[in-house]
Amino acid sequence: MSKVAILYIGTGRYTIFWEEFYRSCEKNLLKNCEKHYFFFTDSQELQSDEKITIVPQENLGWPLITALRYKILNKVKEQLADYDYVFFFNGNMEVIHSVSEGELLPTEEEGYIVAPLHSGNKRFKSNYEFEYERNPKSSSYIPYGEGEYYFHAGLLGGRAKEFLEMLDICEKMMDEDLKHHFIPKFHDESVFNKYVLTRPHKILSNNYIHPTHGKPFLRLNPKVKIIQRDKSKFKYGGHAYLRGESAEKITLTSYIQEKLKEKFGKGFKK
Ligand code: UDP
Repeated sequence: MSKVAILYIGTGRYTIFWEEFYRSCEKNLLKNCEKHYFFFTDSQELQSDEKITIVPQENLGWPLITALRYKILNKVKEQLADYDYVFFFNGNMEVIHSVSEGELLPTEEEGYIVAPLHSGNKRFKSNYEFEYERNPKSSSYIPYGEGEYYFHAGLLGGRAKEFLEMLDICEKMMDEDLKHHFIPKFHDESVFNKYVLTRPHKILSNNYIHPTHGKPFLRLNPKVKIIQRDKSKFKYGGHAYLRGESAEKITLTSYIQEKLKEKFGKGFKK
């Protein structure tokens, strides 16, 4: 039976997502593998047990907590070397339907690394519109015209050897930019897109990282396996509150206004 390490970062208010994430993985993810979780958190409420290793992680605030993702995950690299596969999930993800080994685990031809399609791909008319980092001085720079897809970095994974190699290289790429006081446009995601640009990878459809904004019946679609819970929801206090950018939870009125704006576009007046 393959051993799989599941990595998860949840600091500050993001800890609210952990319980549901964990339960959903236990129920639906890679059921023929032995799973162990590494939860990087500043929460004092949980303790390590045989299924979960709590890794103390200071709440660096956004965007550092995401920009430094590769460095943060690399803190447990010695432990990860004991696993066959390693996967990282963004905090708000939930595995709503069964995901098998065949669907998720990358093969040798696929470079033993997965790359999930960002739902934004459907918006782009040409790759000139991809949200890649376009500053030639950045380690994550991708010139216009190159690259076939824009990938989401909310789900990273692969065979342990290749995953650890990726962590090392991506950590160095980010460090190089930070040394020059520069953070790539979409932080860890810009780095990831550059990383996979020249390396083989298994493309995962966006059914494995599907947004839920404005899609109340999504859970009924059996093809959609892993969702991103809507961080802007009223019950979470809104995205800015979750990230610690705002001290106040979103009010019900501004939440409704936001949702109406999403539904009816810019034409809707506050
Ligand atoms: N995160 C965290 N605490 C925070 C903000 C972010 O732990 O206060 C982590 C969490 O794992 C989250 C990831 O950073 O999934 C990316 O943050 P966010 O979802 O806000 O960024 P986005 O993906 O929207 O750019």
